[in-house]
Amino acid sequence: MKQLEPKFRCTGCDRGVLNRSVARCLYCGADLPAEARLAPEQVAQRDAEHVRLEANRARLAQYQPPRVQAEGSKAADVVDGMATGLDVIDLIGDGLSLVGKLLD
Ligand SMILES: [Zn+2]
Repeated sequence: MKQLEPKFRCTGCDRGVLNRSVARCLYCGADLPAEARLAPEQVAQRDAEHVRLEANRARLAQYQPPRVQAEGSKAADVVDGMATGLDVIDLIGDGLSLVGKLLD
């Protein structure tokens, strides 16, 4: 596997900056240069995205698959099942876009 070159390095210990939302190096505690840090609004945006994904995950964890009814399912159950399926697709899309952001 190819070693990824960190975009920013600590000026104190020359190690890659792991977390750009904190102002200090996680290894040696040195102050990170301003360009290595995320702007506060970027951090807030990222946190908001994280909260949204967590909410989606919690929703998915609560999801109970609609029971197959032996006596024939009602139309309402089918619609409900389809809506839930669309939610899952939406969630997968969120996950993919998050991966894209992390790789960015
Ligand atoms: Zn350091």
